[in-house]
Amino acid sequence: MRVVVIGSGIVGAGAAYYLSGRGASVTVVDSHRPGAATRAGAGIVCPWVDHPEDDDWYRLTREGARHYPGLVEELGEDIGYAKVGALLVAEDPVDLEPVRALLRRRHPAAPEMGDVVDVDTPSELFPPLSDELSAILVPGAARVEGSAVRDALLRAAVRQGAEVRTGTATLAPDGQVLIRPKHGEPPLREIVHEPREGGEAVESTAAAGGRPAAVGPQDSWRQAAPLAPAATAPAATTEAPSYTGEGRPIDADMVIVAAGAWTGEVCRPLGVELPVFPRRGQILHATLEGVDTAWWPIILPRLGPYLLGFPDSRVVVGATVEDVGFAPRVTMGGLEEVIEAGLRVAPGLFGATVAETRVGLRPVYAPGPALIGPLTGRVVVATGLSAYGLTAGPYTGEIAAALALGEEPPIDITPYAPATV
Ligand SMILES: Cc1cc2nc3c(=O)[nH]c(=O)nc-3n(C[C@H](O)[C@H](O)[C@H](O)COP(=O)(O)OP(=O)(O)OC[C@H]3O[C@@H](n4cnc5c(N)ncnc54)[C@H](O)[C@@H]3O)c2cc1C
Repeated sequence: MRVVVIGSGIVGAGAAYYLSGRGASVTVVDSHRPGAATRAGAGIVCPWVDHPEDDDWYRLTREGARHYPGLVEELGEDIGYAKVGALLVAEDPVDLEPVRALLRRRHPAAPEMGDVVDVDTPSELFPPLSDELSAILVPGAARVEGSAVRDALLRAAVRQGAEVRTGTATLAPDGQVLIRPKHGEPPLREIVHEPREGGEAVESTAAAGGRPAAVGPQDSWRQAAPLAPAATAPAATTEAPSYTGEGRPIDADMVIVAAGAWTGEVCRPLGVELPVFPRRGQILHATLEGVDTAWWPIILPRLGPYLLGFPDSRVVVGATVEDVGFAPRVTMGGLEEVIEAGLRVAPGLFGATVAETRVGLRPVYAPGPALIGPLTGRVVVATGLSAYGLTAGPYTGEIAAALALGEEPPIDITPYAPATV
C-alpha cells in the first residue's frame, strides 16, 4: 500500500509513524507554511477539565492523552513529555466548584487524572504566581513539546522506511497528488530535523489593524474551546485556485490530508468545500535565568492565559484566540494581551526575559469537534483539532492511518465524519 500524507504537523507525522510501522510505503509532503500550529502549541495535555457537554470532543482528547505514555516509551526519546500536574486557579474559590464537580464525575472512567486536591498556597508550586489565588491540583496533567513530538514521529517513520519531502502538494480531482517544489528548493528527500535546543521559528513583525476579535471562554474551563466562527470571522479557507495541474505526480493508493488550517484549500479540487478555518494563537516564551522551571505545574486560570514551565528555565505564557484569517503574525496587541494577563496571574514574571514569541493557526472545523474520516475512496482527511491537537494529534494520526489501510479505527469515528458545504 502506497500512502501519501499531506502535512507533517503532529497529525501527519503521527499518521506517517503508524502507517510505516504497519509496513505501508509512505511519503510525507510538507510546504512549511508560516503559521503551522504544531510548532507554536503550548503543550498542555489536560483533557478532563474541558468540554463538559461534548462527549465527542472529550472522548477524542481523553484517548489522545491516554495514548501518550505508551508513545513516549515506543519513541524512546525526549519529547518534552512530563506529568507535571495542572493547577486550576481562580480569584474566587466559588469559581472552582463547577470544574471540581466535573472532575469528580469523570474520575471513575479516567482515574489517570489522579486524585484532585486543594492547594492552599499555589505559589509554593509555581513561585511567580499571585498570592491571591485559590487552586486545585489535577496531578495527572502533562506537558509536551509539540515540535519535539512531531520530529520524533517523523524520525521514527523515516527509520521505518518513510520518505519526507519538502514541497506544496495539490490534489487532482481524482485524488492524485502533485508536488510542486518550494520556490528555490529542489523536491529532495529531506533530512528530518534533529533534536535541538529551544523552540522553532517565529513570525515576528509589526501588526496591522486594531484589536483582534478575541474569542472568550464558553463552557470549557480554559479558553480556545472550539466555537463556531464569529459572525465577523473571515472566509474559512484561502482563495487558492481549485486545480491547475501543475506539479510532479506521485503514485499513491491512498492519501491522508493532514494539512491543518489549510486542509480546505488542499481538498477543494475534489469538489468539496470543507469548513475548516484558522484560529490564530500568539504565545510567549520567557526565561527565568537560573531557576529550575522543569517541574512547575501547568497554570490554568478560568479566564485569561495559561502558563507552563519547561526545562531550560523556560516559562510559556499563552495564548491569544483570534479569528483573523490566514495572518500568522505576532502583533503588538496580541503580545500586550498575553503579557498583561500573564502578569496579573503571575506577577513574579515581571523581570523574566522575553526569549521568543510564536504564532500558529489552530485548525478549527466549524460544525464539529474534529474532522476525521474518508472524503473519497482514495482520500482520508484528519484535522480540526483546534486547541487540542498536541493532546489528540498522535492518536488522530493513528486513526487516520487505520482508515487509510482499511482497518478498524481504535474508536468510533462517526461523530468526526466530514460534512461538506
Ligand atoms: C498558540 C497555540 C497554543 C496551543 N496550545 C495547545 C495545547 O496546549 N495543547 C494542545 O493539545 N493543543 C494546543 N494547540 C493546538 C495544536 O497546536 C494544534 O491543534 C495542532 O498542532 C494541529 O496540528 P496539525 O498537524 O493538524 O496542523 P499543523 O501543525 O498546522 O500542520 C499542518 C501542516 O500542513 C502543511 N501544509 C499545509 N498545506 C500544505 C500543502 N498544500 N502541501 C504540503 N503541506 C502543507 C503545513 O506546512 C503544516 O506543517 C495550540 C495551538 C496554538 C496555535
